[in-house]
Amino acid sequence: MVNQKKIEEAVKLFLEGIGEDLSREGLLETPERIARMCTEIFAGMDEEPSAHLTKTFPIENNEIVIEKDIVFYSVCEHHLLPFYGKAHIAYVPDGSVVGLSKLARTVEVYAKRPQIQEQMTAQIADSIMRYLKPQGVMVVVEAEHMCMTMRGVKKPGSRTTTIVKRGCFKEDLQLQNEVFRIL
Ligand code: ZN
Repeated sequence: MVNQKKIEEAVKLFLEGIGEDLSREGLLETPERIARMCTEIFAGMDEEPSAHLTKTFPIENNEIVIEKDIVFYSVCEHHLLPFYGKAHIAYVPDGSVVGLSKLARTVEVYAKRPQIQEQMTAQIADSIMRYLKPQGVMVVVEAEHMCMTMRGVKKPGSRTTTIVKRGCFKEDLQLQNEVFRIL
């Protein structure tokens, strides 16, 4: 659980640290507001994807399933600045599928934690392999990182793409190309 009191204290220290005046009217409610916000943007800290991926439905044809353009917002763990974009998930079932909204929920669980994009992409793929047990999965994440655009190298509009393949997607080029064609 997010400890709201600790966050409020930390935000006060942080504001003092950058030389702000804590008694300034505009800042009076900021520590409390940020603490409340954290329960929302870090909600994934208290969640596991198993809650979403274990309700499966049997199917007869193991045709590829692609859920694309799953919008997500996350926070980079190196700078605590937002990174956001879209996740695309493709999998080849092995007798069972999950409801499509559950794939989006799985992305949320991992996005709503301090993250790095590479790790988040792998976590999404690995949790799908673990709980849904498909023949294979491929996850593509495209994101813009505020730590790249508002500081440092300042490259607005530049996007980072990460791709993780598991199971049958690892070797099967034709399958990979089918996904890239649709994305
Ligand atoms: Zn960063």
